[in-house]
Amino acid sequence: MIGVIFGPPGSGKGTQAALLHDRFNLVHLSTGEILRHEVARGSELGREVGRIMQAGQLVPDDLVDRVVQEHLRQVEGDVLLDGFPRTVEQAKALDEMLADADRHVDFVIALEAPEKLLVERLLHRAQVEGRADDTRQAIEERMHEYRTRTAAVLDHYRSTGVPVFEVDAEGSVDAVFERVRASVSQATARPL
Ligand code: ADP
Repeated sequence: MIGVIFGPPGSGKGTQAALLHDRFNLVHLSTGEILRHEVARGSELGREVGRIMQAGQLVPDDLVDRVVQEHLRQVEGDVLLDGFPRTVEQAKALDEMLADADRHVDFVIALEAPEKLLVERLLHRAQVEGRADDTRQAIEERMHEYRTRTAAVLDHYRSTGVPVFEVDAEGSVDAVFERVRASVSQATARPL
């Protein structure tokens, strides 16, 4: 089973994905985390993408597609994709990769919250975690990328008949998780 957790920066994808991993035993595959790891270890890929990420821009599709393909190849069980696909081209590339293995995206959880709240959360996280792309300027760029390139990914899934569950991402982590959990249970017909 392949699920996608989708949403703008600051909507809590990573947090909810970690909780889903614990509850549903899904392998959590976060492209943001994988790329940050590559930057931290100074690999060739990391050196290529570091500055792009710091500016809040999207890494080129072909690089991210390759990363995902390599990781997907290594997992046999259920997967939760976090931060991918982020463009319609990536969504189409993912469809092809999965079709080759006789798989497909089973559901999408789309977290939703007003932009003002998202920016507040990211600025707060900047003080706690100090992520390189949590500066005011990079946050603005990430929001822009989301609106202009990423939001359309949902239309791709809707038009190809993949169930999309819109979830209100306002409120406490636990309150949001209760909504997310209910949607995943419905999507997978697993009453956990
Ligand atoms: P957030 O959703 O808070 O922006 P992520 O950790 O998902 O955080 O992503 C951080 C950065 O990593 C993005 O701004 C982008 O530069 C890069 N990135 C992650 N996933 C992708 C992707 N699928 N396509 C292009 N760039 C990506």
